[in-house]
Amino acid sequence: MAKPLIVNAVELLRRPGTTKDIEVAVAVLDFEFDDSRIVDTPVDISVHLESLSTGIHVSGTAHATWAGVCRRCLAPLVERMSVDLDEMYQKGTYDPDAYEIENDQINLLPMVREGLLLAVPLSPLCREDCPGFCPQCGADLAETQCGCVTTDSDPRWSALENLKGVFPDDAP
Ligand SMILES: [Zn+2]
Ligand SMILES: [Zn+2]
Repeated sequence: MAKPLIVNAVELLRRPGTTKDIEVAVAVLDFEFDDSRIVDTPVDISVHLESLSTGIHVSGTAHATWAGVCRRCLAPLVERMSVDLDEMYQKGTYDPDAYEIENDQINLLPMVREGLLLAVPLSPLCREDCPGFCPQCGADLAETQCGCVTTDSDPRWSALENLKGVFPDDAP
């Protein structure tokens, strides 16, 4: 487990209003993501801890790099993402959404881990208006104009369209 993500909370717990700022870079390996989309570059974490009467509020950001492919053109993508962190840590958790303060220590790892996993895009795009491939000839439309005539007809109708001429017209 990554030591820099274990924060001694004794001072914070002693007096509400106490704050603490932490900036660390942690190896991806320490998170045990078990998710190949998160690339092996350091995760940068910057958090602000504030002691409240109800617990310790942690806010800040985490940066990590993910890799994937564009869902339309299959171009490989590698991007740095930023995740906002905003969570409560409590001793003997009474809020089910809060993380637990164990032995007067705050472990930031599960919070950052969860935030990053939720932030990795499930079906990324290389750019918002990526044209993808031509549905007829498969040309990469970002690279070439293939010249295919694409009509926006309903595929079910075009299937019927194709049947025209296959059967002899038996009208009287
Ligand atoms: Zn694309
Ligand atoms: Zn085409």
